[in-house]
Amino acid sequence: MNKIIYNFANRNNNLGTETAFTVLAKANKLAAEGKSIINLGIGQPDFPTPEHIVEAGIKALRDGHHGYTQSTGIPKLREAVSEDIFKRHNQNVSPENILIVPGGKVIIFFAAMLMGEKNKEILYPNPGFPIYESAINYSGAKAVPYELSEKKGFSFSAEDILNKINDKTSLIIINSPANPTGGVVPKIELEKLAKGLEKHPNVILMSDEIYDQFCFGSTPFTSMLSFPNIRDQLIILNGWSKTYAMTGWRLGYGIFPTKLYEIAEKLAVNIHSCVNASAQYAAIEALQGSQECVVEMNNAFKKRAYYMYKSLNDIDGFNCQEPNGAFYCFPNIKVTNKSSTIIQNELLDNLGIATVAGTSFGKYGEGFIRLSCANSSEAIQEAIERIKAVY
Ligand code: PLP
Repeated sequence: MNKIIYNFANRNNNLGTETAFTVLAKANKLAAEGKSIINLGIGQPDFPTPEHIVEAGIKALRDGHHGYTQSTGIPKLREAVSEDIFKRHNQNVSPENILIVPGGKVIIFFAAMLMGEKNKEILYPNPGFPIYESAINYSGAKAVPYELSEKKGFSFSAEDILNKINDKTSLIIINSPANPTGGVVPKIELEKLAKGLEKHPNVILMSDEIYDQFCFGSTPFTSMLSFPNIRDQLIILNGWSKTYAMTGWRLGYGIFPTKLYEIAEKLAVNIHSCVNASAQYAAIEALQGSQECVVEMNNAFKKRAYYMYKSLNDIDGFNCQEPNGAFYCFPNIKVTNKSSTIIQNELLDNLGIATVAGTSFGKYGEGFIRLSCANSSEAIQEAIERIKAVY
């Protein structure tokens, strides 16, 4: 028999991945072998989806919502998103500019496909969510990192980003509150960025606001929708995964300027047709029902993040800044003289604690590890005890 030669397209060699899923698989394997594992690796709320939202999804199935929906999302859901934005940010966004997609991640891929190609450059945060760099590389564009440094509280300076723009720059990605650092960018920097972008009408900004409702530090969250001067060059990424503990439902949305929306809609038709119908009905209930669950989760993450960062600072070798939002601590482990990957492996193999090496979020993540606060206070306390006993 002939040996098959898989002559696949070269761009596939450029795809990266999300190590959090690899760590999760390894942690699950160790747990199945009987090892006591504390999972501080994966970035998803440890809360179940609130009951009223689950019920709305079940009702939608019982009511016969089994077919395709509009590829852009059911109109009632797009209106609910528009109303939610008005309620929270006092900004008008037309449902015509809102695209419902199967997970916020899809918007990263769409933005990269819309704006990236050979001879273009895309700026992205580093350390940052690894899919940014992966999607940029896949698009053929050059991925240009801007560093989020610990010294600046893992925020960025608008000037830094604006100085990196050249003739080839087509897209800038920002993320606040941020994964993996827990950093939140102050309004003043965002305002400066918006002002500076006025001089670059050929550059699009994608603001990943998926953690917007988990912001509990001294710097309040500001949406890029607050700056009407850049609305025509702004893509927003948001969704239900984190806010309503709905990671497995696969639901997210993007807001696009009209011209880009038309292409994004075609991408949606070509790739996924539409989002699962019952999940969309559940999403309406999430936005229109009680928001008590969101407040509860935010309070829990705040309490755990505070405990985690304080306790990590009592351990030799770990220096942690207080996170401002999202649900992660990102301690500096440089004084251990071990790489992030070594510490990640030591914690999992020797202590049964799943974490993610900082380098999984880009080269500037070396010397850091990410610990998720999305586990019970008891589990976090136990993890801290285990680390304390050894380091
Ligand atoms: N953006 C950031 C910064 C994230 O951390 C994540 C998920 O971890 C996503 C986007 C993707 O979210 P979703 O699960 O809705 O695709």
